[in-house]
Amino acid sequence: MASASTSPLFQAFARVPVHFERGEGVYLYDSDGQAYLDFAAGIAVNALGHSHPHLVTALKDQAEKLWHTSNLYESPAQESLADRLCENSFAERAFFTNSGTESLECAFKTARRWHYDNSAPERYEIITFEGAFHGRSLAAISAGGNEKYLTGFGPKVEGFPHLPFGDHDALKAAINEKTAAILIEPIQGEGGIRPIPHQCLRGLRELCDEHGLLLIYDEVQCGIGRTGKLFAHQWVDGAEPDIMAVAKGIGGGFPVGVCLATAEAASAMQPGSHGTTYGGNPLAMAVGNAVLDVVLEDGFMEQVQERGLFLRQRLAEIADSYPDIIESVRGGGLMQGLKCKALNTDVVAAFRNEHLLSVPAGDNVVRLMPPLVVSKDEIRQAVSKMGDALDKMQASAAA
Ligand SMILES: *Cc1c(COP(=O)(O)O)cnc(C)c1O
Repeated sequence: MASASTSPLFQAFARVPVHFERGEGVYLYDSDGQAYLDFAAGIAVNALGHSHPHLVTALKDQAEKLWHTSNLYESPAQESLADRLCENSFAERAFFTNSGTESLECAFKTARRWHYDNSAPERYEIITFEGAFHGRSLAAISAGGNEKYLTGFGPKVEGFPHLPFGDHDALKAAINEKTAAILIEPIQGEGGIRPIPHQCLRGLRELCDEHGLLLIYDEVQCGIGRTGKLFAHQWVDGAEPDIMAVAKGIGGGFPVGVCLATAEAASAMQPGSHGTTYGGNPLAMAVGNAVLDVVLEDGFMEQVQERGLFLRQRLAEIADSYPDIIESVRGGGLMQGLKCKALNTDVVAAFRNEHLLSVPAGDNVVRLMPPLVVSKDEIRQAVSKMGDALDKMQASAAA
């Protein structure tokens, strides 16, 4: 294996020295054939686990027909995926992309352009919140507001005022004649699995209505069934957005993203105002449609809810059993976080030593986001590995 210093790759990632050769369901197999339980799922990407037969067939079939045509021509596959997303959400229009960042970029541009078209070009600011993560483009790091990601990349893209988490007075004070929209993740992912209270989402909707602002949700991580509803905000009545960015789970591992919007918000984007070469490509649409075939099946969401509850209860037991290492459990459905007292990266490494994959997040949290098809038995196995890992951490702390 290439050492870090001789690797031809940008050293932009601190990679764990393990590589996986194949996956099946909730398991990954490394180059020595060792099995790992995958409760990271590519950071909430592999919604249906690895090598799901329906997705494999969809991709293979499409690969033999047509790979790419560009968006110069009609796309029935885009229309069908868009119809299905719209039928199952607030949305009436869809713009397909290849990533979460691009879905957010489309959301930013749609919001700004909508105000421009409505004779308010001065309204271009999009309010965001501490702990947010919206991607890594220049606009997205400005929207996220995390200094670590902004450092060294020149001036911040203007127009993303960044507010403290949950400070209602600061929010009211921040809205002015330049405000175009408010952007929020209904459950912060990278920020540490921090759910936004339901009444806050409703409050944001009311505030947007009162001031003529657009409400934008980033459901790149919490969407596509992760919480047991197709979209996380659907747990809340009266809090639908105008625009929403989606990616990760919708491709099940194939790069797909989408910006969803009401017809009104999307009306600002006309031929020439935005574009993409690959977005909505036939391979991506075949996989996206196949993911929805499974996720929209009768009973699938109920199963995610049931498994989510089961995981949550087992995690609560873990937190009770290891109070020196784990402080609390938070999240929804199969998007759960362990807020740690020990260093979260140590906990992730200890889990990995037991062949259980998890992901660190902000606020010293360990994320557990198994594929949505995880079984109760696989959850039991994962929790047993957690117990083994935490026993060893406790023993070595005592030694
Ligand atoms: C991952 C993520 C993004 C960025 O998505 P990419 O596909 O990496 O561009 C944006 N927002 C949230 C909430 C995410 O979790």
